[in-house]
Amino acid sequence: MKAVLVALGGNALLKKGQKESILTQFKNVEKTIEKISVLAKEHVLTITHGNGPQVGSSLIRVEEAFGKAYSLPLEVVVAETEAEIGYIIQQSLYNFLKRHKIDLPVISVLTQVIVSKEDPAFKNPTKFIGPYYNAKQAVELKKQGMHIKADPRGGFRRVVASPLPLKIVEASAIKKFTKEAIVIAAGGGGIPVVEERGNLRGVEAVIDKDLASAVLATDLGVELFIILTDVPCAYLDFGKPTQRPLRRITLKQAEQYIKEGHFGEGSMGPKIQAAINYLQKVNGLVIITSPEKISQALQQRDGTIISRGFTAR
Ligand code: ADP
Ligand code: MG
Repeated sequence: MKAVLVALGGNALLKKGQKESILTQFKNVEKTIEKISVLAKEHVLTITHGNGPQVGSSLIRVEEAFGKAYSLPLEVVVAETEAEIGYIIQQSLYNFLKRHKIDLPVISVLTQVIVSKEDPAFKNPTKFIGPYYNAKQAVELKKQGMHIKADPRGGFRRVVASPLPLKIVEASAIKKFTKEAIVIAAGGGGIPVVEERGNLRGVEAVIDKDLASAVLATDLGVELFIILTDVPCAYLDFGKPTQRPLRRITLKQAEQYIKEGHFGEGSMGPKIQAAINYLQKVNGLVIITSPEKISQALQQRDGTIISRGFTAR
């Protein structure tokens, strides 16, 4: 049995353009579980996930309830999305395992991730989150002290810091749990906290889920780190006529291509960086692919596969 960490992208929960609801998320997660069923059946599986659309909706609920219900700081919103999505995955996996007569519990761990107070991201918040605003609303919200920037996709949005994940607080407990259960952890990149004289305190930020997943994959020492997203693989010259798929690449090539700027910032970039961070510490294998292509990718026939080095076939 191999230890495997699977990071589920936004697509596994809510596809772009789909009507956002809890029911849609259940349906999508159930489909994804069918696709990764071989991993749930045959390996020690740990799951992480994104939370972009869920945080967006939660922030709207917070804003709309202003003055009527107490407000929630961003890190609490992240914690709530870990509960929401953890519940959806947990129940869907439970039902799947039951159907396949596999006696294995599934648990979600509210996960805190330590970031540095000195992280430069706090001085220059760049991560777009939450609803879109028009110019007038943007001015108003700026007056209230919110960081608002023009989103290149149109309109104005809140920006928050996206500091680097340094340490997963619950890592050793998660490692123990993986011996007896499928564990869902570090959802949405984890609840961002800073350490002050030994105490933890939540901060207004969001952590990239791929980078946090790499920290967890390293802590667990998994042999296989799978990043599931909405493209079958990573490409060079993405979106250009010269676009070509990356099939099997080495850690060194990944480092080179990232330097050359082939990967979108905040999208494919952090996935390749996550692969690099993990492979620098663990001599394992990284697969970047979509849920649809996972079985081919596991046979090395699709997806982008990254390792320290490949022996000639
Ligand atoms: P997730 O929710 O899975 O993290 P993201 O939207 O953050 O999804 O990342 C996946 C997206 O990255 C793809 O839909 C694609 O548009 C974008 N992308 C940017 N650069 C590349 C690249 N070089 N190769 C493939 N996809 C890329
Ligand atoms: Mg992403």
